[in-house]
Formats: sequence, C-alpha cells, structure tokens
Amino acid sequence: MRRPHALFLPFPAQGHILPLMELAYRMASQGFTITFINTHFNHARLLSSTTTPPSFNFISIPDGMQPEDDRNDIAKLCHALLKFTPLHLLQLINTMNTQESDKPTCFIADEAMAWALDVAKKTGLRSAAFSTSSANTYTNMRSVQCLIELGIINEHDGSAKKPGQVFILSPGIPPMNVDHLHWNCFLDSESNKIMFEYIVNNNKELKNADHEFVIFNSFYEAEKAVFNYLNSSKMLPIGPLLSKHSSSVSLSRCFWADDKTCKSWLDKQCDNSVIYVAFGSLAILDERQFQELALGLTLTGRPFLWVIRPDITGKATTSLLERFEDVIGDRGKVVEWSPQEEVLAHPALACFITHCGWNSTMESVSNGVPFLCWPYFADQNLNQSYICDVWKIGLKMMPNENGLITKEEIRGKVEELVGDEGMKKRALALKEMALKSLDKGGSSFENFITFINAMKDDV
Ligand code: UDP
Repeated sequence: MRRPHALFLPFPAQGHILPLMELAYRMASQGFTITFINTHFNHARLLSSTTTPPSFNFISIPDGMQPEDDRNDIAKLCHALLKFTPLHLLQLINTMNTQESDKPTCFIADEAMAWALDVAKKTGLRSAAFSTSSANTYTNMRSVQCLIELGIINEHDGSAKKPGQVFILSPGIPPMNVDHLHWNCFLDSESNKIMFEYIVNNNKELKNADHEFVIFNSFYEAEKAVFNYLNSSKMLPIGPLLSKHSSSVSLSRCFWADDKTCKSWLDKQCDNSVIYVAFGSLAILDERQFQELALGLTLTGRPFLWVIRPDITGKATTSLLERFEDVIGDRGKVVEWSPQEEVLAHPALACFITHCGWNSTMESVSNGVPFLCWPYFADQNLNQSYICDVWKIGLKMMPNENGLITKEEIRGKVEELVGDEGMKKRALALKEMALKSLDKGGSSFENFITFINAMKDDV
C-alpha cells in the first residue's frame, strides 16, 4: 500500500497559514506525507523567522506580484493570484506526478483559494476545501446569489442596496448587517469590488469542483445554527485547530519570531490580572488611536502585554515607541510578536483586547479568556457578533463620533468586563465545549477521523 501524500495550499496570509499548517501536522501524525505550498514571498519570511523549518516538504510558487508590491493589500494580492498562480500550481503538480514513488494523492486547498480545486480536478487528485474562517462567514460568502435575489446587495459589486440593513439567513443564525459582509469591509469601494469578484469566482469554483469535503476551523457547538442550516455530512467542523504540534518546537509558522520573554513576564503577574492586546497580523492602527490605546491601558492601572508588530501603524514603530515609553511605563510589556496561544493559556490573563480575527477568536475561546472586541475588516465584525451577542463572552469597544476609541472607553470597558463574573463563567463553559469536541468521541474529533479516512481511501 502507498503512503498517502497530501498537498496543502493556504491563502498567502498569516491567519491562513497557521491553521493549515496545524492541520498538516495532524495529518502527518496520521501517516500522511505532507507537501506544504506557500508563495515564494511568504516562504522566505517563514524561513527567516526561525531556524527550524517544519519536518515536511516545504515548497513555494509565485504569487504574481512584484517584489516591492504591498502584500497587505489583499485585493491586489487576490487579483494577482487568480491571474498567475493557477498555471504554476498545475505545472508543479504535473511535475510531482511524474515521480512515481511519491506522487501526491490528495489536495487540501484553502477555501479562499478555491480556484485551486479546479487544478486538483485536472490533475486527478481527490480534494477538500478548508475554511479558516467561521462557518457563518463561509455561508455568507456562498449566499451571494441569494442576497442578490432578495434585493439585499447589488449584483455588480456586492454593495448594500440599503446601507445598514440587517438580514437573517435562517432562524437561529446571527443577524447580519449588510455593511459587515466580508467583501464590503475592505479599504475602499474599488478593493471591495475586487474582493466581491474574487468571492464570486470562488463560489463558481466550489460549485464545479469535485471536492469531497469542506472542513472548518470551528466546532459544532459554537455554530450549531449554521451547521444545521448547511445540513451536510460533507461540511465538517474539525476545530479549534490549536497549534499544539507546531508552536511547541518553535517551527517556521509565523512571519515574525515569537518573543520568548512573554512567559517569564507573565509568570511574575498575579492570576487573572493581565490585559493582553493583539490585533493579529494585518490590522493597522493610526497614530492617534495608538496614543489613545497607550493612555487607556495606563488608565486601567492593570498590567498589560501589548503586541506591537513592527508594521502596526504602517510605518516604523521605533520612534513611536520611544515617544510612548513613559506612558507605557513599568506596568506594560511590549513585544513585536507573542507566542499567542501560550499567552492566552496563562493563568495571569484577565482579558483579551482583540481585532476578532477568527484564529484569535478560537484560541481565546479555547482558553476561556473573555474578549474586548475591536474589529477592523473582513469577517471581524461578524466574529464580534458571535462573541458579544451569541456566546455573550465579550464586550464591544464603541468608537466616539470621530471614530476614535477613547482612553475612557478603554478603561471603562476593561473594568466592566473584568468585574463581570457571568462573562467569565460563560467563557469557561464555552472553553469546556471546545475542548470536549476535540476529545475522543467529541464532534470535531470524530469529524477529523471521517475526513482523514476518506482522504486515505484507495491509496
Ligand atoms: N499571533 C501570534 N502572535 C501575535 C499575534 C498573533 O502568534 O503576537 C497569531 C494568533 O495566534 C493567530 C494569528 O496570529 O493564530 C492571527 O490570526 P487571526 O485570524 O486572529 O488574525 P489575522 O492575522 O488573520 O487578521
């Protein structure tokens, strides 16, 4: 019998690479050979952030952009990917297929790279799509045609017919503000339109592909109404995909190196005292907001661990940090990138000020840490609704009339959240459900077994 060999293709962004890599590790531990395909640009970044590459084949293809292009411009990146990358992927798989002894046997494509499922079909590989966002976001994206027919969005660019309109896809699914639909949350209307077209194309690819499953970095109990609505034995939540395998040994999994001093600093803090602040890998804070956040954190009088990525304001942060050194003072610990899962699991944590990226959401849920929500774009507003309105384990930060989240708002919300026993209790209850779903007999565990058995079948 041949050893099954899975190819992985994440969307080229940190928040997609991490969960796909974790899935790759899990499949490797189930006997699969793994080939993980990044773009050249990200491949180089991942290898330079640590000295330990993953133990599987780690290869790369072009993303269609010029070296100096801004890869944080997601709309531009999507446009380039669609135009240039399918051909490179096809050539790569065709070459791999000539190596009789180690041919790939299945293909796991990020749902945000659904065009790649067509390449899998052409090369005769069985395939699955992996959604790194919630099942709710996935469902909204797949509902474009329905939203057009209901007169909720415009056909040509997905923009709202009536800005601010709230709709419900099906009873039990959280109400959705049309302005918060994934494709309506990018930098400007041109980017929104590109994203809408990219998603419409992905919908077409998903419809035409022969993929056997869509798997989700989520768990049934967190999104019951949506999974019931999808009502398909081929739509399987297998999460939360916590980086148990890849983080512990400091492998190349992030674009920035983890700051190892977080743990020793947290060890010195009292239990349930620290505010953790991190906005993921893409969100940008303007300087005025940065200052207000620094002042607000100081006003709380609590210790805080703040991730300030080197590009968090879109400019070099060195001079900014020097200016705020006094404000941040001794109570604050600032790092460029944290080992976030380790941080969230630490007993010193009291709450998480977050942009509500889906990975951060799942990680905080899995550790029972309550949220202060500060969403920016894409699916983050919808994730905030889950956190605050459905699971009721967090509070929304409300901007003032100038769009600024003030220092008083920050202090007030931190106090309200930390003083709310019910919030913590509910967060711990959801954590238990998440962990139970991963245990033998739990929903995510069983779905994972179904999925890998199908991917191994006939090899
Ligand atoms: N992350 C990390 N260290 C940090 C900040 C973030 O390891 O200092 C990880 C975090 O654990 C999560 C990912 O980066 O897995 C960010 O993904 P998310 O979906 O939350 O946000 P995105 O970066 O896609 O906006």
